[in-house]
Amino acid sequence: MRKINTRSFVRATRWTPREINLQILLNLVREHEPISRAELARRMKIGRGMVTYLTAELIAQGALYEGDTVDSPRGRRPQMLYVRTHDRLVIAIDIRFSSTYIMLTDFSGNSIAMETFDTIEDLNALVPELQTRVRNLLALHGASRKCEGIGLVVPGMVDAVSGQVLNAPQLGWRNVDIKTPLEEALGLPVHVENAPIACALAKMWLGRPGATVPTDFVYVTVSDGIGAGVVVNGQVVRGQTNSAGEFGHVPLTADGPDCLCGGHGCLEVYTSNLATVCRYLGKEFSPATARALLPSSGVTIAEVVSRALAGEARAVDALQVTARHLGAGLSVIIKTLSPTQIVVGGEITEAWEQLEPTIRAEIAARALTDMAAATPIVPELASAYPRLRGGTALVSAPLFAAPKFA
Ligand SMILES: [Zn+2]
Repeated sequence: MRKINTRSFVRATRWTPREINLQILLNLVREHEPISRAELARRMKIGRGMVTYLTAELIAQGALYEGDTVDSPRGRRPQMLYVRTHDRLVIAIDIRFSSTYIMLTDFSGNSIAMETFDTIEDLNALVPELQTRVRNLLALHGASRKCEGIGLVVPGMVDAVSGQVLNAPQLGWRNVDIKTPLEEALGLPVHVENAPIACALAKMWLGRPGATVPTDFVYVTVSDGIGAGVVVNGQVVRGQTNSAGEFGHVPLTADGPDCLCGGHGCLEVYTSNLATVCRYLGKEFSPATARALLPSSGVTIAEVVSRALAGEARAVDALQVTARHLGAGLSVIIKTLSPTQIVVGGEITEAWEQLEPTIRAEIAARALTDMAAATPIVPELASAYPRLRGGTALVSAPLFAAPKFA
């Protein structure tokens, strides 16, 4: 049972049930579109009049629209309802150590245009660069459609209230406010979030219509670093200090290589893309040398993965070591949270057939129960741009999310 927080709550008013019904109806349309009013009345077990009233409200708000009529067996042609996503735009931005990606999408996360550039860590140069690129994207592809906001994801912890980046070790950012200058530069609302949390939100809110929405899972991102978004009972777990789920910085060994976080032997120093590429190049991993070495080596994680897929032994071996450590790390997550599934996103998932047996063997060897050993580990391919979908979800998901009561 959830305890009511008496310091932060929305008092139930005579309008509250109406708000709840609006959210239920909107989510039913999202899951079953196209759907008729009659079908909505049947699914919600309420009268047609109430459904007509609620849909009129959502159409007036711009959340729903009426599409084509369809033939029905009894000759009446009901007007079908859809969630209005196609003409509402979002700019999603994924800032990583290696590159920054910008994607213009609609509210469902469908890509309209994308571009990428080398990440600029200095905010004074980064904000004007983003401003120019976002304006150009909207001028070229936005047409008359309205951009409703910017969803920006970073590899690090973010304060849920202020949007301030508390610590992004990969970027060397501590207590950095990118939200305010970007909002001022573009005149659009900017939502900033930790990348794996944003990926988890996209998993919940931008999934295929009709697909089962997971409510207890962990989303692990394998990128320049390792992050995790933890979802329990359909809510992201942030902890008291917005730093819950930092499994990338759980130490696997007490005296392993130095990590950017200041610790040693973290999961991240064995399994990040930087670590995998270093291993492939036959170099010892160290955060300082990796950051200097990788751009000059010209070898990317995508190349290591494609060489492994082509059967190159050195690339296969490099990925196998990553898989072993990743299995150990996922086993920590299973023991701590016992989630219904773990989603793994990142470039290495393109070689999932090679990685999975090793990851599963590591988990099985360390599992405390048979059921824990069988926890589903689900890859999400990098080609689906999960982090950019996460950025989109930051803007569009609040449309569908349940009203807040406690
Ligand atoms: Zn660390």
